[in-house]
Amino acid sequence: MTSDASRAALAGKSALVTGSTSGIGLGIARALAAEGSNVMLNGFGDARQIERLCAELAAEHRVSVAFSPADIAHPAQIRDMVAAATRELDGVDILVNNAGIQHTAPLEEFPDERWEAVIAINLSSNFHAVKAVLPQMKRRNWGRIINIASTHGLVASVHKAAYVAAKHGVLGLTKAVALETATSGITCNAICPGWVLTPLVQKQIDERAARERIAPERARSELLAEKQPSREFATPEEIGALAAFLCSQAAAQIRGAALPVDGGWVAQ
Ligand code: NAD
Repeated sequence: MTSDASRAALAGKSALVTGSTSGIGLGIARALAAEGSNVMLNGFGDARQIERLCAELAAEHRVSVAFSPADIAHPAQIRDMVAAATRELDGVDILVNNAGIQHTAPLEEFPDERWEAVIAINLSSNFHAVKAVLPQMKRRNWGRIINIASTHGLVASVHKAAYVAAKHGVLGLTKAVALETATSGITCNAICPGWVLTPLVQKQIDERAARERIAPERARSELLAEKQPSREFATPEEIGALAAFLCSQAAAQIRGAALPVDGGWVAQ
């Protein structure tokens, strides 16, 4: 559906969504564009496919769509990406820290290098991106910062030490930023998805199927049954809709919150 740019709630705003070439980030970028926001996508992938994706989003919603190939494991590349978004989209009003990776292993076998990578990409990147956008949000006295944490920001699972530590850290950072911006028009919140069927989770399903020598369909339903009482995946569209709501005026007093979208996972 084509959005009516003049009536759209986020018309004239610009959003930077990290890790938005696939999965949840792409769902969020689509939802914000549908509300009329210009968007900068970021992430890895085939250059031609990404180019097509940008053109498709721009045409469908009549917004400007830019792309940054920044590797957010590196603070300097994050700062350059924020500078590029500011230049190309005339500012960054909305920052969605979404890009993330997973590595699973028992703690004593967890490679140091994977620990460092998960902490850099899933946690430190959020700090560097917030630090880079805050000055301009403060100047305009308006901003929305949304960190995509996880149910693993609220509870743990075995063999996910780095991911669980990083996502708990993201919730701490979210609260700290929310307090530092509490008297301004800038809000900072976190979304905590449960299982969402994206490439990140498909990899875990495939690993489980191989480990237990079972069919992928069975691995998929076992994965859900173990954690998610609804036994249904949450979707990138549902996460996108919540992100769009957090950007609205109605959400102005939601600050420092961690909002689960998890089929009841953390209610247990
Ligand atoms: P995904 O693998 O589908 O997408 C990850 C995105 O991040 C891709 O666009 C990828 O190119 C990008 N990316 C990865 N490393 C990057 C880097 N170093 N620099 C820049 N971009 C990078 O994953 P997803 O499932 O959509 O996950 C998105 C976020 O949601 C992550 O933070 C993840 O931890 C979180 N999350 C996912 C689930 C789930 O069930 N899928 C559940 C809870 C939280």
